[in-house]
Amino acid sequence: MSRTEDIVNSANDNWLAVYRPRTVVLDHGLGARLWDIEGREYVDFAGGIAVNALGHGDPDLKAALHAQAEKLWHASNVFYTEPPVRLAQALVEKSGFAKRVFLCNSGTEANEAAIKLVRRWASDQGRAPERRVIITFEGSFHGRTLAAVTATAQPKYQQGYEPLPGGFRHCAFNDIAALEQAMAAGDVAAVMLEPIQGEGGVRPAAPGFLSAVRALCDRHDALMVLDEIQCGMGRSGRLFAHQWDAVVPDIMTLAKALGCGFPIGAMLAGPRVAEVMQFGAHGTTFGGNPLAAAVANVALAKLDSPAIRTNVERQSQALRSGLQALDARHGLFAEIRGRGLMLGAQLAPALAGRAAEILDAAAEHGLLLLQAGPDVLRFVPPLSITDAELADGLDRLGRALEGWLGRQPIPATAP
Ligand SMILES: *Cc1c(COP(=O)(O)O)cnc(C)c1O
Repeated sequence: MSRTEDIVNSANDNWLAVYRPRTVVLDHGLGARLWDIEGREYVDFAGGIAVNALGHGDPDLKAALHAQAEKLWHASNVFYTEPPVRLAQALVEKSGFAKRVFLCNSGTEANEAAIKLVRRWASDQGRAPERRVIITFEGSFHGRTLAAVTATAQPKYQQGYEPLPGGFRHCAFNDIAALEQAMAAGDVAAVMLEPIQGEGGVRPAAPGFLSAVRALCDRHDALMVLDEIQCGMGRSGRLFAHQWDAVVPDIMTLAKALGCGFPIGAMLAGPRVAEVMQFGAHGTTFGGNPLAAAVANVALAKLDSPAIRTNVERQSQALRSGLQALDARHGLFAEIRGRGLMLGAQLAPALAGRAAEILDAAAEHGLLLLQAGPDVLRFVPPLSITDAELADGLDRLGRALEGWLGRQPIPATAP
């Protein structure tokens, strides 16, 4: 039995069976490349699900982690340490709207904090519980804890976990008229959305949609909550994706690339809500852990740089045109969409439901790729990916697709 088989078998026996990883056991990485325990090399277009925004083995991140590891690992929030305080300060400054920050360990926790903040704000305003509705959108993804999964307007994530918490209303994405109607009763406390839906298929908010949400929230005295857990931290080509639309949220959540691989999340609260939660209103043991915060401080500084912005722009164009070239050759995609280095390729109707097979073929050819649902290939490589790494990844994808299409019993028809 190979070492890979041994590890895969052990995972199959001992892990809760909620994951189905590709049969690759990763061992180490550098830049946008990874190697498995058998020594095979991969180009990384998955980035640990939009997390490893500075690739693997970034020397500054490693130095920050090592330095903090020599000093202090954990203190809890009953004492101060410097890294989380500096991080909150930097997030307040760079966000341009936030007055206060709550640090936690993951995306779903950041969204739980946001949901609790909305509810407490509405409560302070004297609104009855049934008038504290939070609107979220079809195709959204906000996490797996019970409130976040209820916010996540996709039945597949909710089924079997009823009873779900109340007070959520789901609305069609990018449909201003539907949102107007959903808010008409005047019982809405907040509208929560991703500026670019990630798990739901890499779907950007349509031009004008975020501004319309902001205007409706203002009209109905509701809060605007942006989940930038996936699309934030420079991935869109701006530090935060909503900055493309010049809207100002009341609350924003971050996680994924905030620690570039070290688990950390954050909930940022603007002036209307920054003082709502007072002593004892919320908390966490690990949130703002000094190891995580020390890494995130460096990650934030590096991701908010002209060098990264320029590279995201450049590699986004290269990736887009590479995908268009593959499409021109094979007729694979119905649409290529997204922004910066968060791109999705919607498979043509003839290939519907087959994203997972393409991911397998890609892995066989040394390319790590994600899907976003059964019909969309998702590209979220490191924001620091080089010309050579990107070209190599596209080349591997091309060979994987050629091999995969060649194996089809009936040749896939071009749309
Ligand atoms: C990944 C993700 C989450 C959940 O984050 P976890 O760290 O997995 O809990 C929430 N919202 C969005 C938009 C995400 O992409």
